Amino acid sequence: MFLQPRFVATILALLIAVATASFCSMIPGTPKETVFITFLVAATSSFLLIYFTIEFLIFKELSKINAVFEKLKKKDFKKARLSTEFNMNPMKKLNNEITLFATLKQKEIEDLKKMEIYRREFIADMSHELKTPIFAAQGYIHTLLDGALDDPEVNQKFLKKAAKSLDGLDELVQDLLILSELETGSVKMKKEPTDLYMVVMEVFDQLEKKAAKRNVVLLSERNVEKPMVAEVDRGKLFQVLRNLVENGIKYGNEDGFVKVSLESEKDWVEVSVTDDGPGIPEEDQRRIFERFYRVEKSRSKDKGGSGLGLAIAKQILDAHKSKIQLISKPGNGSTFSFRLIKKKLEKPS
Ligand code: ADP
Repeated sequence: MFLQPRFVATILALLIAVATASFCSMIPGTPKETVFITFLVAATSSFLLIYFTIEFLIFKELSKINAVFEKLKKKDFKKARLSTEFNMNPMKKLNNEITLFATLKQKEIEDLKKMEIYRREFIADMSHELKTPIFAAQGYIHTLLDGALDDPEVNQKFLKKAAKSLDGLDELVQDLLILSELETGSVKMKKEPTDLYMVVMEVFDQLEKKAAKRNVVLLSERNVEKPMVAEVDRGKLFQVLRNLVENGIKYGNEDGFVKVSLESEKDWVEVSVTDDGPGIPEEDQRRIFERFYRVEKSRSKDKGGSGLGLAIAKQILDAHKSKIQLISKPGNGSTFSFRLIKKKLEKPS
């Protein structure tokens, strides 16, 4: 209440008016009416001057700062941001500076909180993923040590199963290493002109048997008259395409197809991998490129994936300045696509 502009202005105005009137009364021969009028004029004008100064220059700006802090408390960052218009009023400038600083700090805190949640989830996921093959291998080895080693009917089978679990563990660790290297940017892409059609054919060669097991046909589509050469890291692109085609085989329909299309545009080649499988539900599409994210947790695991393939593909394509897109309608298959730059961009001189 004491800091209300009207109260402060009244006290200050009264002090000024009393001082002015006393000064006036000290002049010999000044009539009492004149002293009184001087008091009134000084009080009124000082009040108005002080009141408007406080109200418009100080209190209004302070209440704006308060309003911004209120919005920050409610995490309304957009509304909390102030206009950066040029303004000479130092109070307004101070207001802007404080608000901007507070908004940035609040945003940083929010980002750190999100990262902390992400880090915790990642550690939990990773422990879970590592635990599964280790426990399986441990189980088989202990059973063998406890006597199964002498049983010719199961010893080979258990050893093979233990070895398979450890191979899966090795694959997972390798994938994690690749992903972390890609994320920290420590892997250099060895970009060179690469015939994309040749890479597609190599991927098909490698996955032929897997596709045959599910009776999946591997198809390719391209315009033979147009060159499909892009500036890419051949090995890394192979990895991306292998993952997408393998996913199409694994998660698509039995007796279905996986098609890789290459479309040549002016500066880039568009690569699409399509299957006619069950598709990916809309609510999962946003998260599908996250590490360890699986649509159907148990079924995807049965199919032998580490849950890191798409996360790695996204990072590799990021390093090629490309973005992976997904179009999928449940029941209607999925299409993953991305663009690769045909020629190296010339640096402006
Ligand atoms: P995974 O190693 O589990 O295959 P990915 O990162 O390659 O890991 O894929 C993540 C998840 O996305 C899979 O577990 C699967 O649920 C889903 N998925 C990927 N590709 C397809 C597809 N073509 N059709 C349906 N689901 C898919």
